[in-house]
Amino acid sequence: MEVILKKIGSLLNRSSGGNFFTLNPYVGCEHSCRYCYSVYISRWRRRKIEEWGSWVEVKLNAGEILKKEVRKYKKGHIFISTVCDAYQPIEELYQITRDCLSLLIETDFSLFLLTKSARVARDIDLLVKHPNVKVCFSITMLNDEIAKVFEPYASSPSQRIQAGLKLKEKEIETGILINPILPFFTERELENLVSQAEKLGFDFLGFDTLHYIDSFVGGRIKKLYGQFGKEALERLEYAKSPEYETELREWIKEITKGVRIKCEFNF
Ligand code: SF4
Repeated sequence: MEVILKKIGSLLNRSSGGNFFTLNPYVGCEHSCRYCYSVYISRWRRRKIEEWGSWVEVKLNAGEILKKEVRKYKKGHIFISTVCDAYQPIEELYQITRDCLSLLIETDFSLFLLTKSARVARDIDLLVKHPNVKVCFSITMLNDEIAKVFEPYASSPSQRIQAGLKLKEKEIETGILINPILPFFTERELENLVSQAEKLGFDFLGFDTLHYIDSFVGGRIKKLYGQFGKEALERLEYAKSPEYETELREWIKEITKGVRIKCEFNF
């Protein structure tokens, strides 16, 4: 792993609509998920897409910059980890995310934290202190073995769920984003994922599809699907059709009918 230590000039990014900020403590992501849409960042760094997951930039002075920015902006909504994972392995060493959270608990900013890592449970002591924080575990399937093929260095889905339950025990609002719905693989487990999320008492459930099948992640994804045979590949191909999303949406509506958990579509 190539680690680049950086000093930054700004940390919070205002969204294009202007109604929230994004905060990414790192650039790059060791989790190296094969479907990751953030690989587009590789181009900005003059790196090959295949190198995604082998380098990470650490925003060493993130805490110092954030302190100034929260004074300037005063309040708002912050979405943590939009193009990296705030709890990727290197966080154990540099604790940039923890530094940022320590600062944010003293502010009026509401927080939404998305992760594929069980490491977030380390920061329960901080998360419980914030009056308006939501933690969301991004999960594509419950099968740990197949998940490893697509998300080789993220925590396994079962580790994520266990971490989520620890957060729930402390009454931290915690949910699951089924993201991306991998054609064939996630689809086979969709009903089970919904019923598990409800049974385990998660607070919210979101759904999103696999984007960019035909662009920069397309080649990587197709290669992986190829290992699982014709049926998997055909389903991936079908996911490009205009009907796919409509059918998927209808199916999810059917599955989630009557479930006692707030469900949201992101597609
Ligand atoms: S955890 Fe998120 S940002 Fe990191 S590689 Fe996976 S999808 Fe990309």
